[in-house]
Amino acid sequence: MKKIKRIGVFTSGGDSPGMNSAVRAVVRTAINYKLEVYGIHRGYKGMIRGEFEKMTSKSVAHIIQQGGTFLRSARSKEFRTIEGRKKAYTNLVKNKIDAVVVIGGDGSFKGAGIFSQEYDIPFVGMPGTIDNDMFGTDYTIGFDTALNTVTEAIDKIKDTAHSHDRTFFIEVMGRDAGFIALKAGIATGAEMVLIPEIEGQEEKLEKYLSTTKKTSSIIIVAEGNNVGGAEKIAKAFGKRFKEHGVRVNVLGHMQRGGSPTAFDRYLASRLGVAAVDALMDNQRSVMMGYANHEVVHVPFNKTIKGKRGIGEELLRVNEILSK
Ligand code: ATP
Repeated sequence: MKKIKRIGVFTSGGDSPGMNSAVRAVVRTAINYKLEVYGIHRGYKGMIRGEFEKMTSKSVAHIIQQGGTFLRSARSKEFRTIEGRKKAYTNLVKNKIDAVVVIGGDGSFKGAGIFSQEYDIPFVGMPGTIDNDMFGTDYTIGFDTALNTVTEAIDKIKDTAHSHDRTFFIEVMGRDAGFIALKAGIATGAEMVLIPEIEGQEEKLEKYLSTTKKTSSIIIVAEGNNVGGAEKIAKAFGKRFKEHGVRVNVLGHMQRGGSPTAFDRYLASRLGVAAVDALMDNQRSVMMGYANHEVVHVPFNKTIKGKRGIGEELLRVNEILSK
């Protein structure tokens, strides 16, 4: 196997708080191994365009606490094509990159897996997404911050819901997964949570609205749940249950931004060190995961194919406490 002298690092897919902490950890660990390290701007798009920048320890100073990603992120249709990946390879060779750390979601790992089957450049990954839906890790970088942001917002909305005897439908991110919705539901004491993983929630919602004695309620709606978006649900149910004084709040992109929590900074730092360790140990096509407070290596194939369940216990806790 070729000796690794220079590595690349990039962020890809949706941004998440803690991505900067992750890049910082990768850069400084690489330097600790006396490797050279290049940041690749705008994910696979920048790899194809040749947006490479040499990083020093100073390049990543004062970013551990910043949200977003200073390397920028992007989605690239071109990388899905053979021609696009060839251009990316040419640029990696031109910049003498021997191995790469990708920080992103399962789509980014899928691209990396395909690329390293075609070309002999090892990739390892770090899970950077607010949704927490990646198989093989208890936490993804950014989830804890998003959960705290959502919790703070709902606490505020709850004050006004209570003061004015209203029912609020609050939409949170989660097209395929209800982790943010369910954990925020437990953390804020929401009356109900609608998530993509559960069927038959429409009847349950109807039953709740027609029988509850509560004068104010918080109903958290994950965007991918099967009843519909918060606006649609509120329109339909608001007309029928006028006594609830239905209101809607879509939290939107505020959930993706902001300074990462201490946990996300810690997680990103640990996984960043582990990612470079893994490359130096000749590993490839594995994601750094965090399970039972330990770093684990999860093959890209498993993270892509595996589906992370929401967990019966979380549902039970929410069910008991929301009554
Ligand atoms: P998020 O969870 O935030 O959506 P993600 O990493 O899953 O993050 P995607 O948009 O699915 O985000 O993937 C990021 C990029 O990875 C894509 O824009 C594309 O360039 C690359 N990619 C994804 N799937 C493939 C694939 N099958 N082949 C080649 N490249 C891919």
